[in-house]
Amino acid sequence: MVSVDPTEHEIAELGPKIKDVEDLDELEAMLELEGDGENRDPVKTLIESRIETLSADDEDVDPSEVDLTEQTVADIANMVRDIEDVDVLEGMLEREREGKERKSAISQIENRLDALTEDEEATEVEYVPPEEKHPDLDHPTAEKRWVEGTAGGDYRDMWVYCETQQGELIDVSKEMLGKARELMDGYNDEYDEDEAVVAVVIGHEIEALAEEAIAYGADRVVYHDDERLERFRHTPYTEIFCHMCRDSDFEWREYHEPRYTVFPATNNGRDLSALVQAELDSGLASDCSDLYIESASISNPAKTGTPGENKEFGRILHMKRPDFSGFEYSTILCVDKPHRDFHPQGASVIPGTFDLPAPDTEREGETVEHELELPDEWFQIEVTDYDQLEGGVDLTGNEVIVALGRGIGEEPTDGMEIGLELVDAFEEADLGLSRGVITASYEFDGHVEDYVAEERQIGESGQVVQPDLYIAAGISGAVQHKVGMDESDTIIAINTDTDADIRNFSDYFIEGDLFEVLPRLTEALEEGELAGVLAEASDD
Ligand code: FAD
Repeated sequence: MVSVDPTEHEIAELGPKIKDVEDLDELEAMLELEGDGENRDPVKTLIESRIETLSADDEDVDPSEVDLTEQTVADIANMVRDIEDVDVLEGMLEREREGKERKSAISQIENRLDALTEDEEATEVEYVPPEEKHPDLDHPTAEKRWVEGTAGGDYRDMWVYCETQQGELIDVSKEMLGKARELMDGYNDEYDEDEAVVAVVIGHEIEALAEEAIAYGADRVVYHDDERLERFRHTPYTEIFCHMCRDSDFEWREYHEPRYTVFPATNNGRDLSALVQAELDSGLASDCSDLYIESASISNPAKTGTPGENKEFGRILHMKRPDFSGFEYSTILCVDKPHRDFHPQGASVIPGTFDLPAPDTEREGETVEHELELPDEWFQIEVTDYDQLEGGVDLTGNEVIVALGRGIGEEPTDGMEIGLELVDAFEEADLGLSRGVITASYEFDGHVEDYVAEERQIGESGQVVQPDLYIAAGISGAVQHKVGMDESDTIIAINTDTDADIRNFSDYFIEGDLFEVLPRLTEALEEGELAGVLAEASDD
């Protein structure tokens, strides 16, 4: 018996439901149901990752004594992964054969035993270049014509692309500089190095921004100034950035490429990051919400070169990012492999993720002008005029915003109606939505359907609002939502889950069902009693 049958739900609805399942057997059964049904990979990944999390909670189980009859096959699979002792595994095998004798459990233990035995004879896989290995392939990438394919290169420093708008550094540029400073200070201590934070500024009349970038944490600022660069252009910005990284003859850059690159996950930053990282023959983790540098132990033979062997990779930038619209967080590592480096390790960062640091105007640094002839063909498109697009819903000027999230999921039309009733009860208010509602594919009745549009989305990829009062009903408080509303004067969150992240940045947290709380708020407001209700209902 399962409380949630995955085959009856859209992927978007499943994340929060699966998060609440605590029983490993139930999760295994769900996995089976999905396998027999639509067999959707993302759904299976969600369930498997929940199994992994729950199994990790049981870490202190001693595998040499544990009663295997009480463990699921998934528990056993997770347990054996970390066992290095052949005797312990053989003991487990014996106990499983005498106990439930599950075929899949036995093969998990046997596979681990095989891997350990093979380890002793592990030999390095012979490297054959892809062109030789697959001579029949005619796709151009097989020729590696465009791939530089560096191996064993020398890399240093963290480079930060500082985006500007109307001649000013935008906030996320300063946030990234502050984070880069913190990361590289830690890095230099840990590895006894002296690597720098390098800020890159490209545009027109931007030289003066160098001082500011230094105040926010850069050791060195490399800038390229040209009036044709006043607005962001894909080709010249990419070419300039890559030339700075790899081909320029800066005396101080005695290395092949940067060790790390960091970009803002803005519209332009997303484009630039992908183009630059591809041009530099490396990878990119986009839309990151955390970064840290640590070593990592990897067993993938594509990376280690030797099957069955774990290898420690030092100085790896761990790039945490949301997946499945924020249901899951993955940590992406960009690791070299034998015969092929993947540097710089590159990330783009969601604006608002890191704190805006206080500028230190006493900090000293170096400013370097980058020189490069910019050919006319890089500017084939001339920007003759530009204008700010109008139209759509502008939520930015409202005194009050009532925002609804996936908490309306049980009765989406009712949820929208009671949200709109509360909006109407205020003199000057409008309705906002989390992205969760927009991507959830709820069925709405016609009269509220028109409100469910991206133009009402609040957050990183929607509008950024700062009303006097923000009422967030049934919204969990994912960082992508937070950055669009946490500057509001007063935030009231209504949520059934007292552990919801939104509680951490709300002024008032009302634990309750929005279907009950919103109508009460409307009533209280109409009767002029809202302050009383809030005082009664809030626990902050
Ligand atoms: P959920 O996270 O599912 O939360 C629902 C909440 O409702 C839960 O806390 C639950 O406890 C509560 N609840 C359930 N039932 C009730 C009830 N009856 N009464 C009260 N509470 C209830 N998201 C945005 O919002 N804006 C963005 O701009 C945005 N941009 C993104 C960009 C990228 C690149 C990515 C990957 C994601 C982005 N997201 C954005 C998605 C974001 O990560 C979250 O998935 C999304 O904000 C979750 O929406 P939610 O809070 O409504 O839903």
